[in-house]
Amino acid sequence: MTELHAEIKSRFQTAGRILIVSHVRPDGDAIGSTLALGLALADAGKEVQMALADGVPAGFKHLPGSDKIVKKAEGQFDLIVTVDCSDLKRVGEALDGYAHPDIVIDHHLTTEPFGTLNLIEPEAVATASLLTRYMPLWGLTITVPIAANLLTGLVTDTLGFRTANTTPEALRQAADLLELGVDMSSLYFRSLVRRTFAGAKYWGAGLSSLQRTDGIVWATLTMAERKASGYTGNDDADLISVVSSIDEADIAIMFVEQNPQKTKVSWRGLKAHLDVSQIARQFGGGGHKAASGAEINGSLAEVQEKVLAATRKALNQPH
Ligand code: 5GP
Ligand code: MN
Repeated sequence: MTELHAEIKSRFQTAGRILIVSHVRPDGDAIGSTLALGLALADAGKEVQMALADGVPAGFKHLPGSDKIVKKAEGQFDLIVTVDCSDLKRVGEALDGYAHPDIVIDHHLTTEPFGTLNLIEPEAVATASLLTRYMPLWGLTITVPIAANLLTGLVTDTLGFRTANTTPEALRQAADLLELGVDMSSLYFRSLVRRTFAGAKYWGAGLSSLQRTDGIVWATLTMAERKASGYTGNDDADLISVVSSIDEADIAIMFVEQNPQKTKVSWRGLKAHLDVSQIARQFGGGGHKAASGAEINGSLAEVQEKVLAATRKALNQPH
């Protein structure tokens, strides 16, 4: 066992009260990783609190333990862990008033080590993949409810094992989790396929805004459209997966108005040589080579203009 893993194991063993947090607008990996580690530490006799600033979206409420997640940490902790968080800002209000994290577990390319102990492996397909690999090493047992959460992280971050970074290890891990008795088909459908009526109406509004210049295809979603559709999240309801499936797109972008002064941007790079995390970084965001995001100050129109200019520049760079 390396020194880092020995230290992580020892911190988990000696801590009594442990806080686990992940990022705002949580996805399947953020929620699945928070719950998997949280449930395993609780099984090991720890007093665990799990916090996600935006709570658990409706589409993930079926995950075992999700009812225990709070929006803001409360009380005293011996150990604070972030999972799937590429920077401390992304934790949002979940950690307001707390000291900086003791342990950071993540797989983003752009993650700065902001913890005391940092387990950051960008080649892992998901934070859930790191947990599947290392939890047994730390003396934590993967039970069926924990396996369901881990598999959800693996399935969602690889879009059902079809992203270019999907490894044989990720597939083996999924097989091992399946062998424990989780219902992969149902977890897959609930996290990647099924959507609400309101979510589909919201998609319709976004799709009607679709535009293209050269290899850039993009769509916008406004607050008014969100309200009109009845969609309750502040994300794109994963419309980026449709925009990035368009043949003509080398880079797909989604702009989601958060308020009149703030816009969430998602990039997907559809060509192997592109690294969209470098574009996201210019705007204070980050992520992976093929999938990145940023929350940018400015109105939808302002942000759109700046982001499209920067993206065009990145696309036209020689490679
Ligand atoms: P999405 O576009 O689906 O929100 O995120 C794509 C990837 O970029 C995810 O891995 C996510 O963690 C990362 N990402 C999204 N928004 C931000 C952000 O504001 N800051 C950073 N550092 N990463 C982000
Ligand atoms: Mn992830």
